[in-house]
Amino acid sequence: MSPTDQPVPDALLRVRGLRKNFGTNRVLESIDLTVGRGQVLALIGPSGSGKTTILRCLNGLELADGGTIDVGGEVSVSFDPPPTKKQLTALRDRSAMVFQHYNLFPHKTVLENVLEGPVVVQRRPKAEVTAEAIALLERVGLGDKTDSYPFELSGGQQQRVGIVRALALRPQLLLFDEPTSSLDPELVGDVLRLIKELAVEGWSMVIVTHELEFAREVATEVAFVDGGTVVEHGDPKQVLREPKEERTRQFLHRLL
Ligand code: ADP
Repeated sequence: MSPTDQPVPDALLRVRGLRKNFGTNRVLESIDLTVGRGQVLALIGPSGSGKTTILRCLNGLELADGGTIDVGGEVSVSFDPPPTKKQLTALRDRSAMVFQHYNLFPHKTVLENVLEGPVVVQRRPKAEVTAEAIALLERVGLGDKTDSYPFELSGGQQQRVGIVRALALRPQLLLFDEPTSSLDPELVGDVLRLIKELAVEGWSMVIVTHELEFAREVATEVAFVDGGTVVEHGDPKQVLREPKEERTRQFLHRLL
């Protein structure tokens, strides 16, 4: 029995047999992953191994070619044959992505960036969302930046806006794609601390990261991805300190 087959009490996310090709390039072989409610899964692995593609498939930004994704026991999407638009929209609604390069709208203010998804896409009342957005921005120390534009902010501040923008969507699952790898070293700590706070508050997350120390501290599970497959998956201390698989050992060794 692989670790991913072990029963996870109250699973929020179940991924089974996820496959993705880009042309003739098979990028995801057959990915199985499970994330319990309030759990944090860290995806680690070499560049080009398929980690970002997994996140993008979870969020419906890429259309997988096969397999299933279940979220919250309410949304269950199969990809072969392709899902309907309605199923894909339901999947997208469940999660929110924080991108490596922040991906803020450059011509919108901080507040407008945060409001865009909840007001325009989710069609929630603007007054209610604005109050919530301001409270979230204050919480991350950006209460005085609501009217600023992204170019007026540091990378760390922009990424905190990126995180607030994701939270404002009220997703069940937060997806982080190397959230600190574009930041200057002195700005990394603030963003990691914020993500850690969210984990402690019980947000369910999948995080692609090269920050192994952070993964060890914050993740409840680590999956090592290589060549489009999950090579090893389990307790962070076990996977990062005493990996069972030779490929995991070699990867970790290279990072030391
Ligand atoms: P990682 O996040 O582990 O660095 P990615 O998921 O970004 O890996 O990429 C996995 C593989 O898929 C790489 O070979 C990459 O070149 C390829 N790939 C990713 N996105 C695309 C795309 N939009 N079109 C074609 N190939 C892609």
